[in-house]
Amino acid sequence: MRWTHYDGMNFPFKGNAPVKRRYSITADVLSYQLCPQQYALYKIRKYEASMTNQLFYGTVIHQVLDRAHMHYKGLLVPATAGTLPSNLDIKRYFDEVDSALKARRISAGTKVKDQALEIVKRFNRIEGPSLYHRVVNTECRLQTDKTDYILNGNVDVLAISPENPDSVEIWDYKGTNLPSRGDPQYQQYIYQMQVYAELYRKQTGKMPQKAILYFLNSLSGPISPTCRPGNAILEVTLDASEVDTAMNNFANTVSEIERSRDFGIWANPIQTPPKETCDICDKRWNCPNSGQVYPMRHP
Ligand code: SF4
Repeated sequence: MRWTHYDGMNFPFKGNAPVKRRYSITADVLSYQLCPQQYALYKIRKYEASMTNQLFYGTVIHQVLDRAHMHYKGLLVPATAGTLPSNLDIKRYFDEVDSALKARRISAGTKVKDQALEIVKRFNRIEGPSLYHRVVNTECRLQTDKTDYILNGNVDVLAISPENPDSVEIWDYKGTNLPSRGDPQYQQYIYQMQVYAELYRKQTGKMPQKAILYFLNSLSGPISPTCRPGNAILEVTLDASEVDTAMNNFANTVSEIERSRDFGIWANPIQTPPKETCDICDKRWNCPNSGQVYPMRHP
């Protein structure tokens, strides 16, 4: 009998290895820093948001621009390789993304959709000629094992640096305006890019040349700009000590999230979130932290 070969063998039980949680820079760390209460509502307790305007706006911009990059590379149809998408192409990509989001019950009103479509067309016209041919990768997933957890992030664009062709720039699109320097979100965006840069360095052994945040709402307004507006981009310093500070900030936030999860207690935000965040939050009628009064009304 074959099994008798194994009779009497004894292996010590090693126990189950703890499962490492994954923490996304934007969906976890920045979201928790914005408002722990709202983070717990949607991310931990998994309630579905009743208002999806903001989510639609950010997602549609990212996905249509991703298609614009694929169009230039000829990844959608080989014949378009090396050509810029026309306004009609952008509208087609927009409609495709819109339908896909609708199927996920993420939608927005006509005004929001029109604005999103218009700023993507403007971005395509103003930035496409100088950016698309430099793009090496889009929606690039970066991650690092932090021993207790996995930290990950999605870089929107990796582009060859015009200053140093052996190096890359990392770009992140924001469907907002550039916040003022005093705004807490300004520093959070800078931290985000410094952490992306460090994740990139860990994966490739090289620091990016630059990190660039592009604020697409700077392209909105009744008059279409003919060139990049002055407040469209924020270049982030990738100084080693500042990157360390950013990594520590994120590590501390992950520890806070873990503690909150263990005890089931979610802190109030340190600073009142921006009005547009509270305006679409489903806790807004019963939240002492919002600093706004939301009238109760029947439909
Ligand atoms: S209403 Fe504002 S402060 Fe209150 S939980 Fe929602 S986002 Fe946070």
